[in-house]
Amino acid sequence: MRRTWLTVDTDDIRHVPSNQGHPTRSNPDLTLPNLSERFKLGMKGFVAWMDTHDLPVTLFIIADQCESDEFVQLITELCADFGERISIGCHGLHHRSWSAWPEDSEEFSQDLAKSVSILEHHFPQYFKHWFRAPAGYIASWMIPVLIEQNFVLDSSINPSWLVNKKYGKNDSWKTVHSTAKKSNLIERPWKTRFSLPTCGPAQHIIGLRWNAKGAWKRLAKPLGISEINSVENPDIDLDTIYWHILDHARNDGAWIPPIKGL
Ligand SMILES: [Zn+2]
Repeated sequence: MRRTWLTVDTDDIRHVPSNQGHPTRSNPDLTLPNLSERFKLGMKGFVAWMDTHDLPVTLFIIADQCESDEFVQLITELCADFGERISIGCHGLHHRSWSAWPEDSEEFSQDLAKSVSILEHHFPQYFKHWFRAPAGYIASWMIPVLIEQNFVLDSSINPSWLVNKKYGKNDSWKTVHSTAKKSNLIERPWKTRFSLPTCGPAQHIIGLRWNAKGAWKRLAKPLGISEINSVENPDIDLDTIYWHILDHARNDGAWIPPIKGL
């Protein structure tokens, strides 16, 4: 039976590819803060939403966010408040759009090792070796590096023709997916509907959002607290969805993910 995995990325304003991490799209604004007011508003909204149900949620955190003591404090409080309902995966060190750059296994390996040591240090009971590629930029060459760094799960593939240019030079989402399938790494692609994206920005982009919201209204039952580790079980069919903490800052902090029954 198909189930749903709820995941949230903790990107702050400075992490978007138009600001950093992409070879051609980035135009850095160095005045952006380490931790933004908008992020803090988003966290408030997220916590308020968590108080309305009892489901587990996985956060994919960018390790450089831990340079802010206040960020670490916010996540530590979240973990204390919600306990087993929170698990933490890795969303890179600086949110680099890896597959948009030339292949560099050595750099990527170091990026992962540093990220893991930071996330394990701050959130030892909550960190899992689960990875999500920043901005969905993943290539086949990244899969063996993830395995070498002890990752057991990847959730980076957006299986839609619309984003095929994001994958490596000679890759598409299909080639990356088949590389992952041939490995020990379990791949949890993002939910699509009619081959179109439904996660992250797709919830807000005109032209995609009606389809995206329609998909989330029809989701299978989300995993419960005692079932969260079944994301690592290849026999369990999952629809994985994600949104951002920053989304919770929309509508003056009142936005919630449009999921059926929540
Ligand atoms: Zn991101």
